[in-house]
Amino acid sequence: MLNGVKRFITNGDADISLVLARSEEGTTDARGLSLFVYDKAYNTVKVRRIEHKLGIIGSPTCELVFTNAPAELVGDRKMGLIKYVMSLMNGARLGVGAQSVGLSEAAYREAVKYANERTQFGKTIINFPAVYEMLTDMRVKLQASRALLYETSRFVDVYKAYSHLASERKLEKEERDEMKEFQRLADAFTPLLKMITSEYCNQIAYDSLQIHGGAGFMKDFPIERIYRDARITTIYEGTSQLQVVAAIKGVTTGVFLNQMNAYSHVEVAPDREHLRRMLIEMGEEYQSTIAAVVQVNDTEYVDFHARRMVEMAGNIVIGYLLLHDSARNEDYLPSAEIFIRKAKAQNRERAVYIADFELKDLGHFK
Ligand SMILES: Cc1cc2nc3c(=O)[nH]c(=O)nc-3n(C[C@H](O)[C@H](O)[C@H](O)COP(=O)(O)OP(=O)(O)OC[C@H]3O[C@@H](n4cnc5c(N)ncnc54)[C@H](O)[C@@H]3O)c2cc1C
Repeated sequence: MLNGVKRFITNGDADISLVLARSEEGTTDARGLSLFVYDKAYNTVKVRRIEHKLGIIGSPTCELVFTNAPAELVGDRKMGLIKYVMSLMNGARLGVGAQSVGLSEAAYREAVKYANERTQFGKTIINFPAVYEMLTDMRVKLQASRALLYETSRFVDVYKAYSHLASERKLEKEERDEMKEFQRLADAFTPLLKMITSEYCNQIAYDSLQIHGGAGFMKDFPIERIYRDARITTIYEGTSQLQVVAAIKGVTTGVFLNQMNAYSHVEVAPDREHLRRMLIEMGEEYQSTIAAVVQVNDTEYVDFHARRMVEMAGNIVIGYLLLHDSARNEDYLPSAEIFIRKAKAQNRERAVYIADFELKDLGHFK
C-alpha cells in the first residue's frame, strides 16, 4: 500500500503510474527506495492540485495524494532509485536534450524571421552586426546542441542494442567489452548533453526575444511562449547542477579525455587542420587543469570547480563534433570555426580562474 504525497508529477492522472516510494522503514538513503506500479482503476490516488506554471502550460503538473493505494513491486526491492529510476531518468535526460534542440530550433527560426522583416533606420535589422552576430551565435549553439544530441544518442543506441542482445544470448568477450565502453560513454555524455543543450536553449530563447525588441515582450509573437517553455529544461529531470554532479565522474575518471583523444585521431582536411590543433591544445589545457584540481585532494574543491571542468570538456567534445560534421556538410565549417575559437577563449578563462584559485579562496563564497 502506498501512502503519501508526490508533487510536480507530469500527467499525474495517467492510467498507469510508476511510483518510487520508500519501502524500507527507518531508512533515509537511496537504498531504502523501491519502484512500484499503480493502476488508476483502484481509485485511491487523488489529484489534489494542478500547478499554475510559468511555461509548458499544456502539460498538466499534478500533486498526488496516495491513501492506502494498492501497488505492485517492480523488479527487486531497494533497487528503485539506484537501478530503475536512474535508468528511466537517463532516457528522460536524453529526451530533454532533444526537447532543448527543438526549442532552440524554434527560437532561432523566429529570430531569423523577425530580423528579416523588421526595419530600423532604413535597414532590415539583420544587417546590423550586433544582430547578425547574435543570430550566428544562436545557429552555432543550435548546431552544437544537435551534434551533441546525435553523438549521445549513438552511444545510448549501441549500449542498448548490446543490452537487448545480452538478454537473448551470452555476449562474446569483445561484445561485453564494447558494451561496457558504450555504457561508460552514455553515462557521461547524457548529463553533459542535458546540461549543455538546456542551458543553450535558454540562451537562444533569450537572444531570440532580444532580437524581437519590445515586440518580444508581448504575447503577440511565439517567442514569448518559447522563452517561457525553455525555462523548465534546466530544471526537470535533474537541474543543471545535478547534471554536473553526474557528469563530473566522466571528467575525473577520464571518459571525456579518452573520447577527446579518439576524436583527435580522426583525419581532417588540410584547410581545417588548424582547428584540430586548437582542439588538441585545449585538450592539454583541460588535462592539466583537471590534474591541478584533483591534486588538491579535497572533495569540496572538486565540487566547486566541477561545472567549470564539465563545461571545458563539453566545449572540446562539441568542437570535435562540429569539426567532423564539417567534413560531411560544408555548412558546418563556419560553425566549427566560430565555436572552437570561442570555446578556446572560454576554456582559457576557466583554466586561468582555476589556476589562480586556492583552497582557502572557497571562504570568500561562504
Ligand atoms: C513542470 C515540472 C514537471 C515535473 N515533472 C515531474 C515528474 O513527472 N515526475 C517527477 O518525479 N518529478 C517531476 N518534476 C520534479 C523535478 O524533477 C524537480 O523539480 C527537479 O528535479 C528539481 O528538484 P527540486 O524541485 O526538489 O529542487 P531542489 O532539489 O530543491 O533544488 C533547489 C536548488 O538546489 C540545487 N541543488 C539541489 N541539490 C543539489 C546538489 N546535490 N548539488 C548542487 N546543487 C543542488 C538545485 O540545482 C537547485 O538550484 C517536475 C517538476 C516540474 C517543475
